Amino acid sequence: MMNENKYDMANSTIEIDGSQGEGGGQMVRSSLALSVITGKPVRIFNLRARRKKPGLAKQHLTAVNAAAEICNAEVSGNELQSQDVSFNPGAVKPGNYHFKIGTAGSSTLVAQTVLPPLMIADAPSQIQIDGGTHNEKAPPYEFLSLAYLPLVQRMGPSFKSELRSHGFYPAGGGSIAIEIHPASSLAGISLTELVKKHRPQVQALVSKLPLKIADRECDKIRRKSYWDANRFESVEVTDSPGPGNVVMIFLKSEELTEVFSAVGKIGIKAEQVASQVYREANNYIKHSAPVGPHLADQLLLPMGLAAAYHGQTSEFVTIDLTEHTTTHVDILKRFLAVDVSVQIDSKLATIKVLPKTA
Ligand code: ATP
Repeated sequence: MMNENKYDMANSTIEIDGSQGEGGGQMVRSSLALSVITGKPVRIFNLRARRKKPGLAKQHLTAVNAAAEICNAEVSGNELQSQDVSFNPGAVKPGNYHFKIGTAGSSTLVAQTVLPPLMIADAPSQIQIDGGTHNEKAPPYEFLSLAYLPLVQRMGPSFKSELRSHGFYPAGGGSIAIEIHPASSLAGISLTELVKKHRPQVQALVSKLPLKIADRECDKIRRKSYWDANRFESVEVTDSPGPGNVVMIFLKSEELTEVFSAVGKIGIKAEQVASQVYREANNYIKHSAPVGPHLADQLLLPMGLAAAYHGQTSEFVTIDLTEHTTTHVDILKRFLAVDVSVQIDSKLATIKVLPKTA
């Protein structure tokens, strides 16, 4: 059971208009995670209303059901395409969980929902999530294992993660597992030092496709970046049921590792996939900010918990602000007693998450 005294708050239902701000699945996942943690019931309406296929897709539905399972929540509207979900959480139950998306939907996005409550629970958990592991517009497994989890680990909890098999769209068949050792208190972190030196590593993966595709991607990035040849690796994975291709650029600096990725698609040339990921990585390098745009929105939630429940301030410098980040700030403030200050200075944003003052 969770540390009820510390995390439970008053119980009036929080109403979230899912069409506001970024208006996507992230609002659902963060609202659910925060509902489980605070014990506050939540209703999300107009859910993904402006998306081409509105309402809950399989990945979001798995997240709703996973959140419900870890705390015995009462839920309504947990159906495919539902645009209105009501969620009344119970106490968190750490344990062993296996969540199956049933499609190639992103397993790391489902993890985003259950990791925050389980990392502050009062006993360890083990989770396995089956689905996609390298999806478009979602964190690849390596983002979770090399970028996100090590930073959250610095706040107190510890994790052991494993990529059991790769899953690509549309065949899926991937699986990730995470062992979660919670912390009774979360420390704030500061990621404000501008990065002087990045150590790059590039990995292009193919499954059931010619390795030449990965080689062409590496070549393209090598010609653009002038990075040493020994920083590139083409890999053929054999554990996935379907074809797939992803290019990842890992940028290690003193404080952290950032991970940029692009997923290959039918009709898109390997060189275009490589250029896309290089553009994003190069933009990050040029700005010298330690925190890239995806890490920025995903770090806000644990930072919010450290501020609201443990009086800890966190701060980071990132490249500009994405709509995901500003939407996440709004959601945090609906659930937690936090203040978030944003200062923008010559294209860099400094974000500070601190306990709310009166
Ligand atoms: P929708 O289809 O409604 O947009 P979704 O659930 O697929 O919903 P978003 O709400 O857009 O997705 O949230 C995507 C999340 O994945 C965000 O937290 C974003 O930062 C993260 N993300 C997207 N692409 C990457 C990437 N390449 N690396 C790391 N994180 C990523």
